[in-house]
Parts: sequence; structure tokens; C-alpha cells
Amino acid sequence: MTLWKRNLPQKAVPKSNPAAERFRELKSEVTVVRKQGEGPVKDTGTFSRYLCDLCSTPHPVVELRQCVLCGRWGCNDCWKDDYYTCKSCAGLIAIHTRMGRD
Ligand SMILES: [Zn+2]
Ligand SMILES: [Zn+2]
Repeated sequence: MTLWKRNLPQKAVPKSNPAAERFRELKSEVTVVRKQGEGPVKDTGTFSRYLCDLCSTPHPVVELRQCVLCGRWGCNDCWKDDYYTCKSCAGLIAIHTRMGRD
């Protein structure tokens, strides 16, 4: 499943692309917590650690990844590699995928 990765080839997406449509639908349901490119919250108790937006535990910045849907920063435990999103959004994607015709 590479559909949800951001590094898609830069060619025009056909209007009737069901995956793209589902993605757009999905995006309208997700509450955006942070803007893309906005950094994670610095942990005030430690040096050079940042908080996971989902479980609120501190991690070195290299262990956190920003969700392309909600913009939250997630640690490995809160991350879903299948969709390249946080587990919270991955749950929504799973529902949408099941609603699809395939
Ligand atoms: Zn976490
Ligand atoms: Zn998310």
C-alpha cells in the first residue's frame, strides 16, 4: 500500500481516480491538529526531545514523524507504516478502505 505516501510522481491525477477521491473525502473528516511543516512540541523536562502528539511521551526528533493527514507528530508506537499516517488516521483509512468497492 503506497497510495498514501506523499512522494507520488508529479503527474496529473485523473479525475475519476477513486483512491484520490477517497483521500479527499478522508481529509475532510480528519481534524488537522498541526500544519504540515510545523514542528513537534519540545519537551520542557529534557534537552533535545520532543513530544509525541498521540501518547505525549518524549522522543528524539528522529523518532517522530508527522502525519500527512492530521499533522500530528507520532512516535513508532503511534505510527502506522502501511498508510504513512498516525494510528488514529490509519483507523479512519481502514474504515474508508473497507467502504470501497474492492
Ligand atoms: Zn506516541
Ligand atoms: Zn494522523
